[in-house]
Amino acid sequence: MSDPVDMDGKSPESLSVGLRLQEQQNRALLEQLDLVSQLLRRTCHLSFGLDPELDNDLQRLSNLMLTPEKLTRSQGQLAGLSDQLGLQQDKYEKRLAHWQASLNDTLKQLNQINGLPSELRRQLKALISDLHLPRVSLYRLLPLTQEALSLLLKVATLHRRQPDSDTGNDTLAAMVDQLVAMVSSLNLSGADHELHQIRRQLLSPITQDGLLDLTVEFLQVVIKVLDKERRQAKQFLQLASDSLKDLHQRTTRTLGEHHQGNRQQQVINGRIDNLLVELTRGLDANNLQQAGQSMAQLSSLWQEKMQLEAGLFDEQRLRLEELQQQVADLETRAEQFRNQLAQQRLDSLSDSLTQLPNRAAFDERLLAEHKRLQRFGHPLWMAILDVDHFKDINDRFGHIAGDKTLRVIAHTIRRSLRDTDFIARFGGEEFVILFPELEEADLHRPLTKIREAVRNIPFKFKDESVRVTVSIGATEVHAAEQPMVAFERADQGLYQAKNNGRDQVVILSRE
Ligand code: GH3
Ligand code: MG
Ligand code: MG
Repeated sequence: MSDPVDMDGKSPESLSVGLRLQEQQNRALLEQLDLVSQLLRRTCHLSFGLDPELDNDLQRLSNLMLTPEKLTRSQGQLAGLSDQLGLQQDKYEKRLAHWQASLNDTLKQLNQINGLPSELRRQLKALISDLHLPRVSLYRLLPLTQEALSLLLKVATLHRRQPDSDTGNDTLAAMVDQLVAMVSSLNLSGADHELHQIRRQLLSPITQDGLLDLTVEFLQVVIKVLDKERRQAKQFLQLASDSLKDLHQRTTRTLGEHHQGNRQQQVINGRIDNLLVELTRGLDANNLQQAGQSMAQLSSLWQEKMQLEAGLFDEQRLRLEELQQQVADLETRAEQFRNQLAQQRLDSLSDSLTQLPNRAAFDERLLAEHKRLQRFGHPLWMAILDVDHFKDINDRFGHIAGDKTLRVIAHTIRRSLRDTDFIARFGGEEFVILFPELEEADLHRPLTKIREAVRNIPFKFKDESVRVTVSIGATEVHAAEQPMVAFERADQGLYQAKNNGRDQVVILSRE
């Protein structure tokens, strides 16, 4: 009888153990694949910048390269994350529905007064119907789109009532300022030039017609960015969904082959069982010829079994490797998309003129610091800073000199602060600063330092030395009030500083 051991050096025992292990691995892998596809599907439909909590979750997810090894280790955590993302998605969808309704509403009003060029109307409609696609800018640009549309409505309404009359001048100036603030708050890589042009025209004398056109132009820039992201998102979702479909087909096929392999094994095992029974019978009846035949058949069947199992073993290992590779590819693709979203998010939080954080970043930070204040009770102070008579600089030396001035002032303030303080360009020539963990007695020093640092900058325009000063209003943010209430108090302080003659600091406390 031949020895049924030599199968490429694999003994029957180790082969069976290997197969069993393989089977367990297969099952674990299939569970993991399911989880990965679930997670990928969720992250595909969400994006950074929607809300800070969701961002944290997505950040955690993008830090995890989802290799099968890591998946096994962090399966529980990932399942939790997946549930969490599900909840966030619900919240997000409600917010989208709200935006959709309010955009539609403004569009309707604009349609009634014919205040919208048809091309822009078409683009806006496409935007509204595709709101569910993941885009970083959505969160930031939708409110801005809404604000610009409302402004357009105001300008168009005013225009119908009193086309270019003098009485509208004050209102017109306020509207121009509103659009300047919107344009300034935006940092759109790729649209810098257009925004720059719009801002330049806004800073020169302008008519109602001109403002109407510039508002439409601004809307078009915003929509263009949203549309580019919409196309990128669509493309990614298509790729991801194709890969997921393919992954699903392969998993199903592997499972099928696995079951088929099992059935073949069962047939052979059954035949081996029968032969063993016959062999025992032959031996019991001393029928050595029958026993010998059974032995020979048994030996060849054993060989067959070994060959089948070795084949299955190799086949399954190959399939497993393919599946793992595919999960890795898909993860790389998702990772690239998440990185792209993260970069866009980073862009969206900074101001292109000064490179400081912008108003959106400030809102986010203020909320986070306020939460921290409520939890830990450490003091938090806020200051609003406004350049004095800045309009004069624009008027006398041109807006390019004005821009440079803003850049230098921003840099100077940043340098006067601690690393833990937070500064943002709030819009136009206004900056806001948050001072966490600062006692009241210590607040005057940094504010005076900033005020003096700015007035000592040796500005020189057209060979003329110019002194630029700032006024500052500050207040403490209290845990029991809305952050906006504190903001208004600081603004009140700024107003007093202006009224008292500018170039000074006014700190107001709560009544
Ligand atoms: P006050 O001391 O009362 O603050 O006077 P002001 O002239 O500084 O205030 P006002 O709000 O009347 O004017 C601010 C001007 O800043 C108006 C706006 O056109 C201009 N501005 C806003 N953003 C920018 C910008 O990014 N670049 C330039 N060059 N000018 C800007
Ligand atoms: Mg101002
Ligand atoms: Mg000013």
